[in-house]
Amino acid sequence: MRHFNKILIANRGEIALRIQRACRELGIQTVAVHSTADAQAMHVRLADESVCIGPPSAKESYLNVAAILSAAAVTGAEAIHPGYGFLSENAGFAEMVEAHGLTFIGPSSAHIRMMGDKIAAKTAMASIGVPLVPGSTGEVTDLDEARAVADRIKYPVLIKAAAGGGGRGMRVAHSEGELEAAWREARTEARTAFGNDAVYIEKYLDRPRHIEMQVMADAHGNVVHFGERDCSLQRRHQKLLEEAGSPALTAAERDALGEVVTAGLSKLGYRNAGTLEFLYQDGQFAFIEMNTRLQVEHPVTEMVCSVDLVREQIRIAAGEKLGYTQKDVTFSGHSIECRITAEDPETFMPTPGAVSVFHAPGGLGVRVDSGLYAGYVVPPYYDSLVAKLIVHAPTRPEAIARMRRALAEFAVVGIKTTIPLHQRILEDPEFQAGDYTIHWLERFVEQRQTDPVI
Ligand code: ADP
Repeated sequence: MRHFNKILIANRGEIALRIQRACRELGIQTVAVHSTADAQAMHVRLADESVCIGPPSAKESYLNVAAILSAAAVTGAEAIHPGYGFLSENAGFAEMVEAHGLTFIGPSSAHIRMMGDKIAAKTAMASIGVPLVPGSTGEVTDLDEARAVADRIKYPVLIKAAAGGGGRGMRVAHSEGELEAAWREARTEARTAFGNDAVYIEKYLDRPRHIEMQVMADAHGNVVHFGERDCSLQRRHQKLLEEAGSPALTAAERDALGEVVTAGLSKLGYRNAGTLEFLYQDGQFAFIEMNTRLQVEHPVTEMVCSVDLVREQIRIAAGEKLGYTQKDVTFSGHSIECRITAEDPETFMPTPGAVSVFHAPGGLGVRVDSGLYAGYVVPPYYDSLVAKLIVHAPTRPEAIARMRRALAEFAVVGIKTTIPLHQRILEDPEFQAGDYTIHWLERFVEQRQTDPVI
C-alpha cells in the first residue's frame, strides 16, 4: 500500500484543523496554507509547515490554484485535502492536482463535474434508481416550457440553478402569476453567482425534512453508507443544527435507502466520501443533490458510527480498500451538532473582531471543532463559522440535555456568536419533540424578531 508522508490542506479554520488531526494520528506530516489575514490562525500554528499563499481575498489565496500547487511542490507534499467550500468541488482543481503528480483526496474529477451540475446529477441518480423530486427532466430554456412544466407538476414550484450551491439561484413561484419574476430572478442570480444561468424546475415541497446520507467508497468497488443526518434546521437554505440519526426515520427506512444508494454508487464507480441529499415528506425520499466532499456536519456521523471519516478519505485516496462491509457499520446513540458562527444571534450580521476570552465546554460526549483561542482576531473576509459544538449521548433526550449543558459552559467573549440562538432552539418543545421541517427555523427566528419585548 502506498502511504502519504505529507499532505497539504487547502483550507482554513476548523476544517483545516480537523484534517490535521486525522493526519497526525496517521503519522502524516501536514502543510498548512494561509492568507496574510490568517498568519496567526490556529490551523497555521499547529501545522508542521505553513506557506503563505496570498492576500486576504479568498480569490487570491484559498482559491489561488497556482499558489497552492507551488506550496505543495516547495514542501514536497504528496496529496492535497481540499476540505469543504473553496476548491473542494472544483473539478478543474482536482485535475490540476493529479496532473502535477499529486493525489487529490476526494472523488474523480469526472464525478465532481457530474454532481456539480445538478441536472446531470439528477439524471445519473435516476439511472441508478434513486427517487427524485418531481420536476423538469433537464434544463428549462424558455418561459413557455417553464409554464408547461409547472402546469404538469402543479404549483408551488421551485426554479433552481443547475450550478447552484449555498442556497443561491433558487426562487419559489406559488402561482402562474409569480412564475415569470421567479424565473428571471433565479437566472440572474445564477448568472451572477455561478457564471451559468441554466435552470431547472422542481415541485416545491411544503413540509419536507432535509435528510442526507453519508457514503464512503473505495477504488475497488466497495461502497458503504454511514446512515443519515437530519439537517432540516436551516435559515435561508443554510444549515444551522444537524442530528444523527434523524428523529423522523426508522432503521428500516434507513437500510432501504442505504441499499439503493450504495448499489447505485458502486455502479457509477464513485470513489471517496460523498453525501446524497434528500427531501423527505410523507414517508417518501426525493433526491436533490450530491456533495462530492466532506460535509461541515460530518462529525455527527462520526460520533454515532465511531468512524473517522477523514482518516477513511485519506486511506481510500492512498488506494487502500475499505476493509469492512455494510454489516460492520453500526449505529450507537444520538449526536447533535450546533454550528456556531460569528454573527449577531438576532440580526445575523457578521461580527468579526477580537476574541478576549475563550472557554470551550468539555466532559463526557462533548466535542468542539474550532480554531478559536483567546487573543485571536476573527477576520472579516471568510465564512462566519467559528466553532462546531458536537455532543453524543445514548438517546436523543440525553443528547439534548448534554448540548444544553455544553452551550451553557461555552464562553466566547469579545464577539457576538449564535450560541444564544442555539440555546433557544434546544429549549423549544417542538424541537425537543423532533417535530420540525425545513421551514421550522425561519418561522422560529421571525417569531422572535416580531415578539414584543416585555
Ligand atoms: P444548494 O446546493 O444551494 O444547497 P439544494 O438543492 O441542496 O441547494 O437545496 C438547499 C435547500 O433548499 C434544501 O435543503 C431545502 O431546504 C431547500 N429545497 C431545495 N429543493 C427544494 C424543493 N424542491 N422543495 C422545497 N425545498 C427545497
